[in-house]
Amino acid sequence: MQDGWIYRMIKTAPEKKGTKGKKYIYIICFLAFCVMVFAGIVYSVTSQTLKQQMGNKCLGIAYAVAALLEEDPDGYKAFIQSLDTESDYYIRTKAIIEKIRFGNLDNVVFLYSEIRVSEDEMMYLFDGEKADAETFSPPGTQEPLTAARRAAYESRGAHIGDFAAEVWGTLLSAYAPVFNRTTGEFLGIVGADVSIEHYNAVMQKQFTLILGSAMIMLLMCYSIIRLNREKTRSDEENFSKSSFLARMSHEMRTPLNAIIGLSEVELQNDLPQNMRVSLEKIYNSGSHLLGIINDLLDISKIESGTFELAPVNYSVANLIDDTVQFNSVRIGTKPVTLELSLDEKTPRGLYGDEMRIKQILNNLLSNAVKYTEKGKVTLELDWERNNGLIFTVRDTGIGIKKENLDKLFSEYYRVENRENRYIEGTGLGLSITKNLVELMGGTITVESEPGKGSAFTVKLRQGIVDETPIGSETVEKLRSFQFAERRSARGKKLVRTQMPHCKVLIVDDVPTNLDVAKGLLRPYGLVIDTAAGGREAVEKIREEKTRYDVVFMDHMMPEMDGIEATRVIRSEIGTEYARTVPIIALTANALRGSEEMFLSNGFDAFISKPIDIMQLDVALQRWLGNRHSGAEAAL
Ligand code: ADP
Repeated sequence: MQDGWIYRMIKTAPEKKGTKGKKYIYIICFLAFCVMVFAGIVYSVTSQTLKQQMGNKCLGIAYAVAALLEEDPDGYKAFIQSLDTESDYYIRTKAIIEKIRFGNLDNVVFLYSEIRVSEDEMMYLFDGEKADAETFSPPGTQEPLTAARRAAYESRGAHIGDFAAEVWGTLLSAYAPVFNRTTGEFLGIVGADVSIEHYNAVMQKQFTLILGSAMIMLLMCYSIIRLNREKTRSDEENFSKSSFLARMSHEMRTPLNAIIGLSEVELQNDLPQNMRVSLEKIYNSGSHLLGIINDLLDISKIESGTFELAPVNYSVANLIDDTVQFNSVRIGTKPVTLELSLDEKTPRGLYGDEMRIKQILNNLLSNAVKYTEKGKVTLELDWERNNGLIFTVRDTGIGIKKENLDKLFSEYYRVENRENRYIEGTGLGLSITKNLVELMGGTITVESEPGKGSAFTVKLRQGIVDETPIGSETVEKLRSFQFAERRSARGKKLVRTQMPHCKVLIVDDVPTNLDVAKGLLRPYGLVIDTAAGGREAVEKIREEKTRYDVVFMDHMMPEMDGIEATRVIRSEIGTEYARTVPIIALTANALRGSEEMFLSNGFDAFISKPIDIMQLDVALQRWLGNRHSGAEAAL
């Protein structure tokens, strides 16, 4: 199936190429530039702040030492004159400096006091080196002034600055002035040097961090732009693919409507056996092809991410009724019974995507029927407050081997064995089912035993609209399979209610479609009129020569399409009859969302082509139910 022409066509639907490549390169370059500038600013601000912090810490220490020296300005002065390392003053001050140095000075390499001896030179009084407590420079050592020192001497205030020296590496120095507290005389300065190596290590870390974050930011921007670009491109592709799919769907359904519809109409007549067999084959092949087209449309929409759920308020009883009606016919002449087991406490009205839940149940039930030759197929419905609806479809069929259970939900997977060799299938049903269940936030599980049967369980949380339990009466009614009996009165066929007083108008521009619709409606004994286009239908409704009880309106017609015709009927003719006559869209435009589109455009209901006779029957019962005579004809 993967290589089928329909699949290939959908996969290779026309693509639009993006034209924005260059623009994105410029954007990326600009962003890279911005990130670099940003990194630079952050680096320099951090560096300044860090230096300031370190400098302030050193300055605090220098001030503390200066304050100690200021306590004895005379001793300080006397020491400068003698520079005697044996003096009391020197020993006491050295001890204090040592104490401060070891107590507080993380990373401080040097702590010293000095005086200026000339325009360009200073002289050490005390000089403590962190590395070794005993390596105080001898008092009197002289050195040229650094710029920061010069500034400290000249301003007689605090100063911070860094300098590099071959021996000590790069240092950050902080200078505090020393004054005679009584006379205010400027005596000298105290310096504290911190190793810039530590600061460099911190900055290196910071820089790596900043650059790393900048790179991540850049990568993120790049990814966002790429994703955005991909999204724009895939939106464009999806748009063209969706419209392509809509066109293809319409084009394929129109001939299929003729194949399925006309064979269905002919099968209602008495036919020679060989002709009946051939027609049944045509009918079955057409229906099979329609199923494949529907599956491919669903898979393609799921893959392209354009699949949308359409939740509505719905009645649980109707959901079960429709599902049972639909599936009881599938059993045909097989010795298989379809049974129902319903939880009476299930709330009557729920909120969820009813149509897709039906599709899930139909997929599971049709598999159960398909893979069960005799025995029974059971649809169980349980309600749990926490889990919501729990459906189990159980069968007594061929079952599935343990090793194949995991692969069941993959696209195009079919178990290859003797038992199902002749059973037709694409291997898409369970994959679509799983996708649908997961899109609704639910789960699907399977248990099976070869030769004994299988059980597929689906859990779906639903909103509650009407909490009243469906109750035993409804459950009994549903279990009695009224409709199934009506259908089974004549095998694969439906028993039509006679409606001879009802008048219908069929609007379609394709004569074959008119033939199909007429043929399918004829067994109801209706009065049937036709119109070959929207304009003719509008005129017939305006003239009111016949008051139709229901109008079946095609969508795509030349000159005036079904939507425009309905708009004119509803809003321009102006009579009560035109405003209220039931108009049912009968169209090959069967993509998701079509029903909502028709209902919001003045239509009362929607039937897709190829016409499903059960859907048609339900619509006739609903719109003409109270007008007919009640007689029934088994055909
Ligand atoms: P298919 O169109 O082949 O039925 P599905 O995706 O619906 O595709 O199922 C995939 C495969 O899972 C089937 O080919 C069949 O082998 C197996 N399978 C599904 N349901 C049942 C079942 N109720 N009993 C036995 N086998 C089943």
